[in-house]
Amino acid sequence: MSRQQVLPQKDPEAAALLEQNFLDRGVQLLKGARATEITRSGKSVEVFCSDGRTAKGTHALLAIGSEPNSQELGLANTEVVVDESGYIEVDHNLRSSVPNIYAAGDLSGKLPLSSVASMQGRKIAEHIMGLHEGREHRHLDYDKAASAIFTEPEIADVGLAEAEAFATGRKIRVTKVPFSSNAKALINNDPLGFVKIVSDPNTGHVLGGSIVGQHAAELISVVALAVSANLKVQDIHESLFVYPTLSEALLEAAE
Ligand SMILES: Cc1cc2nc3c(=O)[nH]c(=O)nc-3n(C[C@H](O)[C@H](O)[C@H](O)COP(=O)(O)OP(=O)(O)OC[C@H]3O[C@@H](n4cnc5c(N)ncnc54)[C@H](O)[C@@H]3O)c2cc1C
Repeated sequence: MSRQQVLPQKDPEAAALLEQNFLDRGVQLLKGARATEITRSGKSVEVFCSDGRTAKGTHALLAIGSEPNSQELGLANTEVVVDESGYIEVDHNLRSSVPNIYAAGDLSGKLPLSSVASMQGRKIAEHIMGLHEGREHRHLDYDKAASAIFTEPEIADVGLAEAEAFATGRKIRVTKVPFSSNAKALINNDPLGFVKIVSDPNTGHVLGGSIVGQHAAELISVVALAVSANLKVQDIHESLFVYPTLSEALLEAAE
């Protein structure tokens, strides 16, 4: 990996836990290693890095991002503006520079997630039908989209990240609860991981959260709802969740 942590965009504590899990399973991590060449010889492949390090194995799997496939859409015959990376430029209604041409999904250059693509399609349909007029119409807030990585353990997050808040100097309150103190995780004999809630220390509003561990992708929905509905930590804390469940860790983190 070319950076110093796996999943460079994610919570460093979450990434560290995943890295440790990789190491425990015998995975070798080459940090800060930029791959420059892959060679194949017989049934083995070798990856060469710019600093001289190499990695040898039976397969090489590249996971280094994506780029838009907008060149073959015939957009050159229209006035649709495409940015230098190939994404269609859209306004907050997903409308391109040509009023009756919209872009949904990865091509809009917003957030490459299935959930986002699907909701964008719905928002476009609402806009075309004029359903947004005369009533409160919510534009998509990409900062509030939950996402997950289905690694083992799973990692999920939503909203403002702790590291992001520190980088911008924003004051936040962070509460973290390990699954090792959660009854259901102990019953499941899988206490690895934690839940973390980021909130506004003055108002108590939930700003974001990260979860690592079993069912993280399911559990983050509670935090996602809190973030998009502008709920406070107290709203989570005073909810009566089922005992014993993993989501009780969120109640505790919200306390
Ligand atoms: C390996 C991988 C794992 C992922 N996992 C997740 C995940 O767990 N959760 C999640 O939310 N997101 C995930 N994503 C992201 C998600 O798949 C995309 O954000 C989503 O599919 C975007 O939808 P889309 O409609 O923009 O593009 P696509 O789903 O790529 O659909 C575009 C369609 O347009 C068609 N097409 C292309 N060019 C033309 C043309 N000229 N004419 C007609 N048709 C054309 C293509 O064939 C394709 O069917 C993952 C992506 C990858 C690559």
